[in-house]
Amino acid sequence: MAKILVVADIKQGELKSSTAELLSKARAIGAETAVVAVGSNMSSLTPDLVNAGSDTQYMADDPGLELFSAGPFASCVVDAAKQFNANLIWFGFSESGKAAAPRVAAQLEAACATEITDVVIDGEQIEIVRPAIANKVMQRVKVNTGQLVAVVRAGAFEAADGVTGTENIVTLSPPPSDLKAVIKELVSDASGEIDLADADIVISIGRGAKDQAGVDLVKELANDLNAGFGSSRAMVDGGFMAHNKQVGQTGKIVAPSLYMAIGISGAIQHLAGMNGSKVILAVNKDPEAPIFNVADYGIVGDLFEVVPILREEIKKVRS
Ligand SMILES: Cc1cc2nc3c(=O)[nH]c(=O)nc-3n(C[C@H](O)[C@H](O)[C@H](O)COP(=O)(O)OP(=O)(O)OC[C@H]3O[C@@H](n4cnc5c(N)ncnc54)[C@H](O)[C@@H]3O)c2cc1C
Repeated sequence: MAKILVVADIKQGELKSSTAELLSKARAIGAETAVVAVGSNMSSLTPDLVNAGSDTQYMADDPGLELFSAGPFASCVVDAAKQFNANLIWFGFSESGKAAAPRVAAQLEAACATEITDVVIDGEQIEIVRPAIANKVMQRVKVNTGQLVAVVRAGAFEAADGVTGTENIVTLSPPPSDLKAVIKELVSDASGEIDLADADIVISIGRGAKDQAGVDLVKELANDLNAGFGSSRAMVDGGFMAHNKQVGQTGKIVAPSLYMAIGISGAIQHLAGMNGSKVILAVNKDPEAPIFNVADYGIVGDLFEVVPILREEIKKVRS
């Protein structure tokens, strides 16, 4: 039976949904499951880690681990992987996951794959699926080592209902401190805006929004829906949106329940960042815009007319 170790994705003391999604997938393929949690003051997280679907919880709980640092974080994951004898070590699609995964793979001398969307285990053989060439093709890759460290693409797996695990806590010793890099302080985004990676709804604007008035108009819709507010690269290059709002191949990859693309043509580089979204709604005045090829719902029209109507209708439904 395969053994899958999921690295808990913890942000500001909360367990992110990706941990339950990865554990659900691990259980669905019949693997033995464990989770490794790295941080400080985590005792209150134990029920969440169990309920997410883990049967063993490796806890590296130490004040020195409060701020993420890839070296010590990776050492804790390696320790858990060795103790659990894991065949697969899965990270969620977070900045910390992407930073630590290659270090863990190097220390374990395991294969490393990023952005996987599926995994097939056939006896000893592990095969993964991942997008390539800006999502134009899906690769099936056979892994020639017995052990694989993988970063799972956002939204690739779903958390199943009614999944739960069993409590079996293993305490890990704190890792030696990293002399190469010392994290002094974590500076959070001061804008108070919803992080695109965490948002259940993301609304992005493109060049069709034209100028600041267009940005402000669509931002009001995002505020109404408590949505993350993103952008195509055209609006970042135009100086209207910050780079951390860019969705796409060279921006963020998001997979919310609802993605609204407003005044965005649907270039392949933009699609690479959002086509894993569960439902896509596009607003574009050009009926031939490629975004409509991936949209579940499309509105052909001028966004300066459509967005106020959408806001009105949403208000009506809510009241
Ligand atoms: C190496 C590389 C990496 C890249 N990475 C990214 C990336 O990460 N993310 C990204 O987004 N792009 C990326 N790009 C750029 C990408 O190729 C496109 O140029 C960009 O996505 C286009 O942005 P857009 O859709 O906003 O603009 P456009 O392609 O100009 O489309 C604007 C759309 O708005 C519509 N429109 C105009 N006015 C209105 C209106 N009043 N109402 C409704 N609709 C209207 C038009 O019909 C059109 O479809 C990358 C390119 C390269 C070469």
